[in-house]
Amino acid sequence: MAYFDYNATTPLSSAGKQALLDGLESNWVNPSSPYRDSARVHNLLEESRLLLAERLQKSPSELVFTGGATEANNAVIRYIARQIPEDSELLISPFEHPSVSETADSTFGGRVRRLKALKDGRIDLEDLIDTINSVNIGVCSLMAVNNESGVVQPWEKVSQICRKAGILMHCDASQWFGKFEEGDFSNCDFVVGCGHKFCGPKGVGFVALSSNSHGFRSQLGGDQESGRRGGTENVPSILSMVAAMNEAESWLQKMGQQSSFRDEFEDCLKTNIPDLVCIGNTATRAPNTSFIVMPRFENVRWVRKLDLRGFQVSTGSACSTGSTHSSPLLEALGFSEDAGRQTIRISSGPETLGSDWQALSSAFQEVWEELLSSGNSGNTEVISI
Ligand code: PLP
Repeated sequence: MAYFDYNATTPLSSAGKQALLDGLESNWVNPSSPYRDSARVHNLLEESRLLLAERLQKSPSELVFTGGATEANNAVIRYIARQIPEDSELLISPFEHPSVSETADSTFGGRVRRLKALKDGRIDLEDLIDTINSVNIGVCSLMAVNNESGVVQPWEKVSQICRKAGILMHCDASQWFGKFEEGDFSNCDFVVGCGHKFCGPKGVGFVALSSNSHGFRSQLGGDQESGRRGGTENVPSILSMVAAMNEAESWLQKMGQQSSFRDEFEDCLKTNIPDLVCIGNTATRAPNTSFIVMPRFENVRWVRKLDLRGFQVSTGSACSTGSTHSSPLLEALGFSEDAGRQTIRISSGPETLGSDWQALSSAFQEVWEELLSSGNSGNTEVISI
């Protein structure tokens, strides 16, 4: 099988796996217990915090380990809602991950303002500046890299603008780590990430806070994480996540090289399949990501046929059994609702070879011909991916 769904999740790297196994075998005691072994594990936890904080240019006391990016985004949005004045608004991109957008809508209600998107998949910076100048904005939430299109958002620029304007800035950087060299997070008040996007384990993540985030509490019910997240720390997974983050440095260059394979793949597809659209291909994108709108046939049919040929790709859109919700990104870019059922997201990893991309391109060609010859008949059921 050739795995082309790295934006959904990644396999454990060798350092991540070793740290996880060591953690499960030798570092499993509760770091808050009162004996020497616990102190040892507590120290390992704090060493990991220090390492990760250094990478994020934050102080270790500002770093809170969580059960993933969804938890961290929820916690940040809810915390901010308590901090900013009641008459100020939350500004977000129109294509944030649901862990941001749904929490924002349910917490801020009518006080959520969505930015306009440019055709290339980035937010419209001019719209952001106009909005900041004309509306009472208390906080801005902008993802670093869109999980569907891979388009890099101008988050560093926005964080500078927000800092100058005295607006809090939250950056969901879940899709940034493992794809890019370190960014400048110094102007972000909240930075969120999770292990399983950069070859660490699932169910573990972090939020880096600004130094004045007093009273931040992701979960109540315990004094762990300096009272900011109740619950026994998942030390093996935390150690594994930080080991994976370190190891990622050694393969980031290889990840960068994926862009030439991806671009060739898209050129080939565009030649063979008329009217296919590659979203975001004029913007800077994550090097591993291609998000395409097929000209015909529902995406689940493509995905199944590619799966049968040994290629794992995703529809990329938020589908759930029995119902479709169109992708917020496609909506923001002005695509029709139908287009949401025709998208395919392909996302590779550092070890994906040029020949894997070429084989995928041939498989697309085969599936196209098969679907054309079978006409429009076939299963239109939507599955959860
Ligand atoms: N934010 C973005 C941009 C993501 O891509 C994801 C993962 O799909 C998440 C948040 C949620 O991360 P987790 O699975 O760790 O809760």
